[in-house]
Amino acid sequence: MLSGMKQKCSTICIIGKPNAGKSTLLNYLIGQKIAIVTPKVQTTRSTITGIITDVDTQLIVNDTPGIFSPKKRLEKAMVRCAWSSISGVDQVILLVDSITGFTDDILLIWERLKEKGIKPILVFNKVDKAPIILYGADNPAISDATIIYISAIKGDGVRELKAYLTKHAKEGPWLYAEDDMTNLPMRFLASEITREQLFMNMQEELPYNLTVETESWENKPDGSAKINQVIIVSKQNYKSMILGNKGAMIKKIGMRARAEIEKDLGIKAHLFLFVKVREDWDQNPASYDYLGLTLE
Ligand code: GDP
Ligand code: MG
Repeated sequence: MLSGMKQKCSTICIIGKPNAGKSTLLNYLIGQKIAIVTPKVQTTRSTITGIITDVDTQLIVNDTPGIFSPKKRLEKAMVRCAWSSISGVDQVILLVDSITGFTDDILLIWERLKEKGIKPILVFNKVDKAPIILYGADNPAISDATIIYISAIKGDGVRELKAYLTKHAKEGPWLYAEDDMTNLPMRFLASEITREQLFMNMQEELPYNLTVETESWENKPDGSAKINQVIIVSKQNYKSMILGNKGAMIKKIGMRARAEIEKDLGIKAHLFLFVKVREDWDQNPASYDYLGLTLE
């Protein structure tokens, strides 16, 4: 930032259905992995904020849980979180998976936004995988929309999207330091990385029935960190599955999570994982607090 330059700042929210690629887009924009990504739905549980500061402009980008019809308590809290994160932001990106296209359920999101007086930027993602004629892009409801086509994985079109966001940022003071990438604490990012490994390595419903919390974080004199995390599950047999035969599974998850923590957070880590059974963790306000959610 050169002296005499006026600062511009914009708060932005990315919403869409589960698996549209919201977290992948946030990571690409930031140029660093701060939001976890898996091929499974409902990986993101709360708002993940990334900060991009470039020349005179600061973009504060919020990744959110996907919008779907929630059934369980935790799911309801996640969807509530997605909707509430749009209030007060300057720009909203509605991210659409081009492979499935602009379907009726996305039209419902579009209309609900309209009722709130919000006109989102419509961003069609995964164009690397989608046919040239994008399903639903010709829907008359969106004939006057700003549409940008991207591949959040490959980066195609992301520069154009960033230019659009920057162009529409208003004059105002930056809210974060120039080199901040996120407002999330390291201990939270570290537990998300372990949760990502559980999503990648455990089958079916298990990843949805657990939560991970960093219990302690101790910085050692040699610059490394000793991190204790607890994986909280709702049933004893989930615990056995996570431990695996002679502890093989938890060992594998611990090794992978540690490697990712070291890579993504740029630290040397000693990671210790514990598994606890707490039948009602998904009814416990403290579990929601940790994730940045509220239990209704
Ligand atoms: P979210 O639920 O909206 O946050 O979606 P994620 O970012 O977790 O991505 C869901 C899945 O879609 C992951 O397997 C990603 O690798 C994949 N994905 C995201 N963006 C793209 C893209 O541009 N192209 C392709 N082919 N896959 C993508
Ligand atoms: Mg996500």
